[in-house]
Amino acid sequence: MATQTMLKFVSTPREMPEKRSAAERSDDFHEIYREFAAAKAAEQSSRCSQCGVPYCQSHCPLHNNIPDWLRLTAEGRLREAYQVSQATNTFPEICGRICPQDRLCEGNCVIEQSGHGTVTIGAIEKYITDTAWDEGWITAALPAQERGESVGIIGAGPGGLAAADMLRRQGFQVTIYDRYDRAGGLLTYGIPGFKLEKDVVMRRNRLLAESGVEFVLNCNVGEDISFDAIRGKHDAVLIATGVYKTRDLDIDNAEAAGVVRAIDYLTASNKVDFGDDVPDFADGELNAKGKRVVVIGGGDTAMDCVRTAIRQGAQSVKCLYRRDRANMPGSQREVQNAEEEGVEFVWLSAPGAFTGHVTGVAASAQERDVDGPPQIASVRIQKMRLGQPDVSGRQSPELIDGADYDEPAELVIKALGFEPEDLPRLWGVEGLEVTRWGTIKADFQTHRTSLPGVYAVGDIVRGASLVVWAIRDGREAAEAITDFLSGAARVAAE
Ligand code: FAD
Repeated sequence: MATQTMLKFVSTPREMPEKRSAAERSDDFHEIYREFAAAKAAEQSSRCSQCGVPYCQSHCPLHNNIPDWLRLTAEGRLREAYQVSQATNTFPEICGRICPQDRLCEGNCVIEQSGHGTVTIGAIEKYITDTAWDEGWITAALPAQERGESVGIIGAGPGGLAAADMLRRQGFQVTIYDRYDRAGGLLTYGIPGFKLEKDVVMRRNRLLAESGVEFVLNCNVGEDISFDAIRGKHDAVLIATGVYKTRDLDIDNAEAAGVVRAIDYLTASNKVDFGDDVPDFADGELNAKGKRVVVIGGGDTAMDCVRTAIRQGAQSVKCLYRRDRANMPGSQREVQNAEEEGVEFVWLSAPGAFTGHVTGVAASAQERDVDGPPQIASVRIQKMRLGQPDVSGRQSPELIDGADYDEPAELVIKALGFEPEDLPRLWGVEGLEVTRWGTIKADFQTHRTSLPGVYAVGDIVRGASLVVWAIRDGREAAEAITDFLSGAARVAAE
């Protein structure tokens, strides 16, 4: 009788790759999961039920053909598994590491719904592509034929890079402009190494360069080169600049020294991880070492900040969030990781004010007169309760009168979310339409903006979102740009 390879979920329990102990991982910025061994990846893949309607696939923004590559992995046919996986995803090993699988593919796995525990899709996706790198199956894609048309891409985050890859494969001349000194966007300077090690991103950047994509780094569009100049140089332009304007607090001493923006804090930490000199880290401003740290916010950025502060050697790390655990936007998996590493969550709490002093408790009267903002000393914490649901259905936090208290802190990190910069004003572009939220207005399938030949993808269109959505947008925009430059769209429009 033929043996059954799949459907092993009935007899084989779910297993993730081993997680390094909290004590060990809190001392470094390496990823926290160890690699699956080949036999374990095959075993865990064989738990897939190969269901008729794969919800994992339909809930993946890239519609990854997950059941097929699970089956190929279970059968030990890893090279084919890699081929299937990379056919729909430009960066499978990155998604395997940092997608919120619990909300996407794994959260919708049929065997998860029937109480058997989801297939560990993300870990297997990472295993397949890491193996492909180790085996040398991943090489620069050189187009069969070069084309004369060129595309300028502004922003080297996952949206811009995914589009660049697809366009280069078609033979277009692709130039990516980015204001940072390294490509990768938030993959490089936002997400910390313990979720996504930096060489995983850098080898992708190198591969694109080898395939002929030109990178123009340290180039801030709007300052170092105008948007119009880029439009003049290229036959089509893609805007993939992400969202970086941070939401702020309107409370007493909001500008106190020692109160910093999450993006500045994480960027500095990632640069230090690369071995760069970072003056604001060296002088202690963006370094949590020895400090009592309070992080404000309940999203993934806040989770990255609290766990970074632990690794920098903070004396204590507290995370303030105005709703409760069940209502926080950040991933529950990340909350658990943070708690294991020693982070304390202070639920139903919001900052009411910051209190500060000039140079410490013993500051002299003379020093207290010094101009400039005071040094943060504590956060006045206001306790909240959850009230009636708002229009979105989420319960609104309400203040509990008289329950305030002061939490001492030497470093406060604001992780309150991001908004788009006003690109039409910053770049002096007329006719580039934006939505009432300030994001760029673009067609959701073609990603075409209101300007002919100009496309936009990723967070600058969606607002702060996910890597996997930026990749999907980038791939779709590349198809639309290919049509546009091949004349198909123009002919259809006539
Ligand atoms: P970005 O990645 O932001 O890249 C935009 C690029 O454009 C940047 O390199 C920037 O330097 C460049 N740029 C901007 N303006 C200019 C200009 N004027 N001139 C030249 N270049 C410019 N998503 C997940 O799926 N999983 C996670 O675990 C996760 N964790 C996150 C953690 C943090 C701290 C943050 C902030 C976000 C996280 N996200 C996560 C969200 C994810 O990183 C973004 O949704 C994704 O990176 C958006 O891709 P993008 O290409 O649109 O923009």
